[in-house]
Amino acid sequence: MSANIDSVLNALYEDLTAYTAHHAGYPYNLAFNPGPVSRFLKFSLNNIGDPYVGSNYAIGTRAIEREVIAFFGKLYGLEQPWGYVTACGTEGNYYGIWPGTRLFPTAPILTSVDSHYSLGKAAAIAKTRLIYIESKVNGEMDYSDLERNVKGGHGPFVVNANIGTTITGAVDGIDRICNILAASGRSFHLHCDGALGGLLEPFLSDETKLNFARYPIGSISVSGHKFIGAPMPCGVVLARKEHVSRMEQRVEYISSSDTTIMGSRNGLTPLFIWQAIHQRDFAKEAKECRRNAEFLCGALDVKGWRPLLNDMSTTVVFNKPSDECCRRWQLATAGDRAHVVVMQNHTRAWLKRFLEALDDVPLSRSAAV
Ligand SMILES: *Cc1c(COP(=O)(O)O)cnc(C)c1O
Repeated sequence: MSANIDSVLNALYEDLTAYTAHHAGYPYNLAFNPGPVSRFLKFSLNNIGDPYVGSNYAIGTRAIEREVIAFFGKLYGLEQPWGYVTACGTEGNYYGIWPGTRLFPTAPILTSVDSHYSLGKAAAIAKTRLIYIESKVNGEMDYSDLERNVKGGHGPFVVNANIGTTITGAVDGIDRICNILAASGRSFHLHCDGALGGLLEPFLSDETKLNFARYPIGSISVSGHKFIGAPMPCGVVLARKEHVSRMEQRVEYISSSDTTIMGSRNGLTPLFIWQAIHQRDFAKEAKECRRNAEFLCGALDVKGWRPLLNDMSTTVVFNKPSDECCRRWQLATAGDRAHVVVMQNHTRAWLKRFLEALDDVPLSRSAAV
């Protein structure tokens, strides 16, 4: 029996090692080192409930979680941050939509057609009308279409800004969205989906717009397994405390004072994020990834793959190669285009190997691989 377990696990381990070495298409930093945090796997860590309210269940990492929130609060200019470590970026998007729909129960959600599918699910779960705004060719929101919808709409709005779209890494202009909303004179809740870009835009822009102090942002969601590379899905959501307390009263009035979407919450993931914050230089990593993305984009251009690399992004979109190539390198595809998201594990040497493999693609199509 145990020999069988061993052989199954060994085979799985080998497969995962090979898949990791060839991974190119999804925005996951596969260079994460779990280090000293691994030994905490033996505890049944559970940060159940609000990170700022104690629980009698004491085996958790709430104090560490609050430090993680403080770090992100500082990064995004939120003086009195409220937030928590989520199960993933999607939960953060649900959470971001939630205050908007509770504060403005009749408000529709406005988001671009290039948004992640979690926005559609969030709208369905909140039973809220979703209005899709057109995008420009590069994947960024079409502001004139937003303006048309805001002018033609009624009442308050819940708006989602993509800080890096899934397919092209396009960053919606928070300043332009805020100007349009302010000019309408209507109330709004602005959520920013920064799953990957939430940790790129602040380091790659001349002056970050992902900032609660300078813009009337209501909430921001980031994934923890993308740029940071935590070895299991997680994320961080931040919201203005005044929104949360207004909601909290309402929720309390119904039955509960719980402020998070989930009940039991992972206590290990805050440790992974906290360790990364203390050990690493995110600004340096983001700039290195960007330089490598520019290198890949330049090389693909020379080879005729018609690449696109948006500002403040490391997602390189190009013409889709063969299905076999997409499978082997785990490329994400959309229609006749594919993309590589350049992450910390993609060194120059790695990218050169990928480019060489791409050279063989049209030639090796008929050959057995
Ligand atoms: C990946 C992604 C999400 C979802 O994040 P998960 O952590 O996978 O749930 C949301 N929005 C965008 C733009 C993404 O790229």
